[in-house]
Amino acid sequence: MFKGHREHPDFKRLGTVPVEGLPETMLAAEVHEFNKPYTIHQVPTPKSLDPYDLLIRVAVASFCHTDALILSGGLESTPSGFSGSHEPTGTLYAMGSAAATLGFKLGDRVAAVGWRDPCGQCDDCKGPNSVHHYCKYMKGFVGSTLPGAFQEYTVVDARFSVKLPDRLSFETAAPLTCAGATAWRAVKTAIQGVEKGQWIGI
Ligand SMILES: [Zn+2]
Ligand SMILES: [Zn+2]
Repeated sequence: MFKGHREHPDFKRLGTVPVEGLPETMLAAEVHEFNKPYTIHQVPTPKSLDPYDLLIRVAVASFCHTDALILSGGLESTPSGFSGSHEPTGTLYAMGSAAATLGFKLGDRVAAVGWRDPCGQCDDCKGPNSVHHYCKYMKGFVGSTLPGAFQEYTVVDARFSVKLPDRLSFETAAPLTCAGATAWRAVKTAIQGVEKGQWIGI
């Protein structure tokens, strides 16, 4: 899915920042065997952040159909060994050197979906916002090819994250980031040319 990762030019210009103050390890619910429950392991906490990384203390991480496919071996031939979930909400603990330019600050309540580190140079990255996630040169996808959100802390990409309004709970927001957004986009597309009061099927 992510063949030939290309680094965004900001990586070299801005570099990485170290993470301080976290315990050495944390708990993670990982995929080590297909068609078996997640297993709990102690894993290292993140030690450095790339420019657009957000390190969040996970509050809620939801389970998507993609997680079911990953658990059953429907996507890859070998178990990922990573924790599941690409739909986290939580509190911003630390961030990379470019994330503040997008308006994030420590302590923010955030929600994210799992794409990380698009190349910034391909046609999809330079296209409209609605196609950025098609970049073929991403570093990977949280909960699939990168550690997921079924762990105490996780790293997401500021460009695929939003700050949560106070009135929206962590529990409500988490499944909106992938499953909810997918259905919402379908509705937005389907209602073009539909009159108010008509039925649509999604
Ligand atoms: Zn790209
Ligand atoms: Zn999903």
